[in-house]
Amino acid sequence: MTADRTVPTVDSDSPPWFTRFVHPGLADARPYDASHHDYAWRHRELHRMMSNECPLPPAPAVVAAAISALMESNLYPNSAWELREALAGVNGVTPDTILLGNGSTEVLDVLIRSMFGAGDEAIIHIPTYAYFETQVRLHGGTPVLVPIKPDHSFDPDALLAAITPRTKGIFLCSPNNPTGNSWTVAELERVLVTGLPVVVDQAYVECGYSPSFAPLVERYPNLVVAKTMSKAYGLGGLRVGYLIADPALVDLLLRLRIPFSISLVAARACLAAVEDPAILEERRVYISTERDRVFAGLRQMPDVTPFESDGNFILIDVSRTGHTSTQIAEFAKREGSLLLRAVTAHGLGSGHIRVTIGTIEENDMFLAIFARAIGAEEPAA
Ligand SMILES: *Cc1c(COP(=O)(O)O)cnc(C)c1O
Repeated sequence: MTADRTVPTVDSDSPPWFTRFVHPGLADARPYDASHHDYAWRHRELHRMMSNECPLPPAPAVVAAAISALMESNLYPNSAWELREALAGVNGVTPDTILLGNGSTEVLDVLIRSMFGAGDEAIIHIPTYAYFETQVRLHGGTPVLVPIKPDHSFDPDALLAAITPRTKGIFLCSPNNPTGNSWTVAELERVLVTGLPVVVDQAYVECGYSPSFAPLVERYPNLVVAKTMSKAYGLGGLRVGYLIADPALVDLLLRLRIPFSISLVAARACLAAVEDPAILEERRVYISTERDRVFAGLRQMPDVTPFESDGNFILIDVSRTGHTSTQIAEFAKREGSLLLRAVTAHGLGSGHIRVTIGTIEENDMFLAIFARAIGAEEPAA
């Protein structure tokens, strides 16, 4: 059989044979680098303070719902309408505004695929979640990167000034990863009145008390809010996220999303988490309290500037310590088995570290190790 197949001739100087069969932007695309996740899974002795996960394990009711779904997993899942209704309830919107997906990364990808092609511009307020830029580029669009102000406040004027006839959408994040600050309704409305699609990623909104923009979707059909079960709910391993958008847009996006992208186990477990408000409140209070404690500890330290955050992480400017963010992260790993994130994308350079709020013990360890890393003790390169 194999002998009959026509195998394309391989010339080592020419591009791989499949190049002319795949989308043009693909060869240049920078894939999401999951190596730090794999590293952490291989080294379970290390403390994961780098990926903005919730340190609290799933509540017993969530585990029980997952197990009962597992017993029925010979059956295909349904559309997860119960989860859709429950999420609509907690967000104060109607179920037809909710598009569920395999993590918010899936639904954001579906949205970006539906909107961007060659020549289309996406205005992205940076520094932020790198995924917006990656996906826009992957699908042939052009990211237009507009920096936030030096004090990290948002800059609606600069965003409005970046609009051209080719602008297809504006991407914002509130609370913003990695800076931690949030948009106000008044600021956001200045961008919404343009009538352009405005995507606000609110992955971290339940980690604190900053405003959810879900209720604005009814008044502004051009607003799309992205949310997730991965952060405050602490269910990143289950992969469930969602968009809240105009029902007509949701209807369109459902044609693009693969059917059954949410497993029965994930849907039932998330439903249990959403149905008991005490589960989220416990996490919100825990994260907020510990974040404020870690922030207060960082404020006592010389030569560093922690930024106030509404998320489950704190960004720290370490540029005046005489050590790079990479040196500090290496020191924390070597001396304290702590994994931190040196945030370098979007012009942050080598002067910023992001720490995720961990368990109380981990946070204490972090404060101690971090003080040593920036202090008299020289973190070796
Ligand atoms: C972590 C994160 C997400 C979450 O993605 P999921 O696919 O839902 O796990 C989305 N947006 C931002 C800004 C994030 O930091």
